[in-house]
Parts: sequence; C-alpha cells; structure tokens
Amino acid sequence: PLVLGIESSCDETGVGIVRGDTLLTNAVSSSMEEHVRFGGVIPEIASRAHLDAFVPTLRQALDEAGVTLEDIDAIAVTSGPGLAGALMVGVCAAKALAVATGKPLYAINHLVAHVGVGVLDGGKLPENLGALLVSGGHTEILRVGSLTADVQLLGSTIDDAAGEAYDKVARILGLGYPGGPAIDRLARQGNPKAIRFPRGLTQPKYMGTAEAPGPHRYDWSFSGLKTAVARCVEQYEAAGQELPVADIAASFQEAVVDVITSKAVLACTEQGITNLLLGGGVAANSRLRELTAERCAAAGISLRVPPIRLCTDNGAMVAALGSQIVMAGGEPSGVDFTPDPSQPVTSIQLPAA
Ligand code: ATP
Ligand code: MG
Ligand code: FE
Repeated sequence: PLVLGIESSCDETGVGIVRGDTLLTNAVSSSMEEHVRFGGVIPEIASRAHLDAFVPTLRQALDEAGVTLEDIDAIAVTSGPGLAGALMVGVCAAKALAVATGKPLYAINHLVAHVGVGVLDGGKLPENLGALLVSGGHTEILRVGSLTADVQLLGSTIDDAAGEAYDKVARILGLGYPGGPAIDRLARQGNPKAIRFPRGLTQPKYMGTAEAPGPHRYDWSFSGLKTAVARCVEQYEAAGQELPVADIAASFQEAVVDVITSKAVLACTEQGITNLLLGGGVAANSRLRELTAERCAAAGISLRVPPIRLCTDNGAMVAALGSQIVMAGGEPSGVDFTPDPSQPVTSIQLPAA
C-alpha cells in the first residue's frame, strides 16, 4: 500500500510516504531554531510552527514522491505521546485530509513508529525482537512480539529520559540547546575515563539476580547523573580552576551509554531476545551506536540501527508503521479519536472511537 505518514508530536513537522516497506520520501521541517534562545521546546511556538509548516511539507513530500493525494491508499498520523497542542495540529490536518479524500486514517503511537521505521532499512523486522528506544522524552527497552499487535515494556527510565539528561547537562556546561549533538561532538576531544560518574540503579538492591530480579533490574535513572555533573562543575568553580569541559562531556556520555547498553543487553540475554533494534533521536549518538554494536556482537545479538535521518522525528516512521498495520489487515481509527499526549507504548494504534 501507498501510505502517507504525518508527524507533529514535538518540534518536527514531518510528512513521509512509503510503499509497503519502501521509503519514497521523508520531508521534515523543524522549528528547533525558534526554541534555541529559550533553551528548550516551547509548546505554543511548536504548535504555531506546525500550522505554518504543514501544507508546504505535505506539498514537498507529494512532489518528491511523484504522487497525488488520490494515489494514497491510507493516511497514518501520530496520535501520541507528545505535546498536546503539537499533536492536535497534525491530527487535525490528517483528519481533514481523510475526510476530504475519503481515505482511511490510522492513529498510531510515535514510540512504536520509532521502532517500525526499521523496516525501511533492511526490510521486515525479525521475530523475537527487542527494541531499545532512546529519545528526548523516553528511554525504554521493549519486547516486540509483533510490531502491529504486541509490544511490551521490559524496562524504562524512572525519571529523566536520556535525551533530557543530555540537554540538561549541556545547559550546565554552557553548550546551548539542543544538547545531544553538542556533547557528542565535544566528547570526541575528551577522556571518557577522566571522571567516574554514577550509573543509576545498578546497585544490587535494585538489580537483584536473574532468578530473583530486583525492583529495577532493567530500569534506568539519569537524574542522579545530572546532579553529579552539576556538583562536579561547582567544585571546579569553587576551586577557581578551569573547567575540563571536554573531559566532563566525554565522561558523562560514557556513563549514559554504558548503563543504557549494559542493561539493554542484559534484558535481551535474560529474556531470550536475539535481535535488537536501536531507535529514537538519541540513537543518532555516535558513542551509543558504537557501544551498542560492540556489546550486541559480544552477546550474540543481531543489531539493526536505522540511519540517523530516520532515527530523529520524521513522517516516514509514521508511514512505515501505518503501512505495516494496513498490510496486517488492521482496522482504521476513523476520525473521531482524540490525540493522547501520554499514549503508552503498549497502545500501538488508537481504535475507532
Ligand atoms: P520522544 O520520541 O520520546 O517523544 P522526541 O521526539 O522529542 O521524544 P527525538 O526527536 O526522538 O525525541 O530525540 C530528540 C533528542 O535526541 C534530544 O534530546 C536531543 O538532544 C537528542 N539527540 C539528538 N542527536 C543526538 C546525539 N548525537 N547525541 C545525543 N543525543 C542526541
Ligand atoms: Mg525534535
Ligand atoms: Fe521521537
């Protein structure tokens, strides 16, 4: 099927078009620049930017793919999780298109779409799949029994998401917004072993054993790490010493990536999961890609990592999951659903109201 996907959950307006498992186009407009001076995404500004960007982005996608709205078989739209006002713009646009063209509309989960995008680079996803989702708002390890029918949460962050930790630490280090790419770049010039930052929830009382798992065996916590970086910076400042910014960035990144990958690989090994997909915006991180590959290889887990432009928010990922749902014979959601800002990852698609 030819499926149009619409994404507007945060600051990217995305319209992507796929045919089956094949990517035709992925048009993305970002309002990132407008949020830079505030040091974070301002929901009201993001919503207005979606409103401005939607029609031009839709036109661009249709032009690039060389198709018309009449050619489209189904429309898929992110219904959550995300910013309420931002979601509303994409959902209203999708509903309007569905009503005007008579095409079926599928309301789908943004997080599962970060996983579903995997089909566009390497074809159908393997059975017995795990997904390590690391993004601005989420850090989760999932068991994907079926991309269209069965997603289970094995573990997640209990406080900040990894991307959030990157953004907050970048602010502490004066690196500006968005923090992820800035820390990634700077870390290459630093020593990752310079400072030993804490790996949250790795103490025995949280981990337990494989036979008797502790309360947070596959979970993460990044707020203590953020505090440790802030303390470290304060100590240098109090001592009047120059801040070793690159070493702090590299050591922080090593702590994040070490604990993310070790727990994800542990979960896969103990749960008998032999295939892993790495997704979400933080999957753009060079060290995360490297260490995940290294540790998966050592554990005999086969790893798939989509290209960076498909990991950060985009419409093609929504179209990709929509297309899988259409091919699996899924029912459309209709046009009476309401976007759900806190849609859980286990809710792959919103049903018809
Ligand atoms: P969610 O998908 O949970 O709703 P989101 O859509 O806002 O959140 P994404 O767009 O998937 O998040 O990811 C954005 C996050 O990725 C930001 O926090 C950003 O700092 C981070 N990020 C982007 N590139 C890198 C990188 N190279 N290294 C680390 N983090 C990065
Ligand atoms: Mg974004
Ligand atoms: Fe995202």
